[in-house]
Amino acid sequence: METKIIDGKQIAKEIRIELKKETKRLMAEGYPQPKLSVILVGNDPASETYVRNKIKACEKVGVESEQILMDASVSEEALLSEIQRLNEDPSVNGILVQLPLPKHISVDRVIETIDPKKDVDGFHIQNVGSLTVGDGKGYVPCTPGGVIELLKRSDIPIDGKQCVVVGRSNLVGKPAAILLLRENGTVTVCHSHTKNLKEICQSADILVVAIGKAHFLSGEEIKEGAAVIDVGINRTEAGLVGDVDTESCMGIAGAITPVPGGVGPMTIAMLMKNTLAAYRVQNHIQ
Ligand code: NDP
Repeated sequence: METKIIDGKQIAKEIRIELKKETKRLMAEGYPQPKLSVILVGNDPASETYVRNKIKACEKVGVESEQILMDASVSEEALLSEIQRLNEDPSVNGILVQLPLPKHISVDRVIETIDPKKDVDGFHIQNVGSLTVGDGKGYVPCTPGGVIELLKRSDIPIDGKQCVVVGRSNLVGKPAAILLLRENGTVTVCHSHTKNLKEICQSADILVVAIGKAHFLSGEEIKEGAAVIDVGINRTEAGLVGDVDTESCMGIAGAITPVPGGVGPMTIAMLMKNTLAAYRVQNHIQ
């Protein structure tokens, strides 16, 4: 079997082009330029890279961006009041606080302080609620949203398929499972207490892996023809690798995302999509 490599970079580029057209059109109609504010606390090199890539993506789609750098020793109170200021600034459509945060700051308090209408990461409990009931009112978290978009744009049907999600984090696994369910997949969620993980993975038509363990799954755990979406990003001596050993899946999987170049670029494209969605909401654009 020939395994198709799902080119997340190319699909993300297509989405950016669509969004850029939309931004241009709305601005030509007299609407203001959309704006995303990104708060970065401390100087973790990986977080700095992610923020840099998000700012670059803003430029590509015509969104104004602002980077707010805060020292790692910043108090929780000061961070919350900065978020409050951005909540109240009508020129700011989206607010993103880059995670992880220093240990003395409560991530939950930070997320619940962001105005849900500006929560372009889709982490606020109100957006999580919207995702769960499927009322279409909230913002879908970027990485799981990107997973669904990759499948759809690669013409991989979800309806009626056996979908297995490995990982149940609030950021990736759980929302990915909810989204697959919303697309009428039959969803099984696996985690560190799951028995017979290998057999469950082997039953998947669509396998989404998000655990954060380099090359944890291999071709042996894949069903012939399955679509494998590897969310993992692991820094190893050999560079960035996913949770799946891609090489060993070649010739077995029907389609697979590479790492890097698969889900990663989609996460940022979906952030841009959410920023535009927030902009539309705040400017009352249908
Ligand atoms: P978390 O550490 O929050 O969650 C990991 C999940 O994997 C947990 O639910 C855990 O189970 C499960 N798990 C861990 N070990 C096993 C195991 N041996 N068998 C089965 N399940 C296991 O990670 P995230 O969800 O935040 O991220 C997952 C990966 O995705 C990471 O590599 C991260 O870097 C990457 N990522 C990539 C993004 C992208 O843009 N491509 C964006 C976000 C994340 P339990 O709940 O039982 O502990």
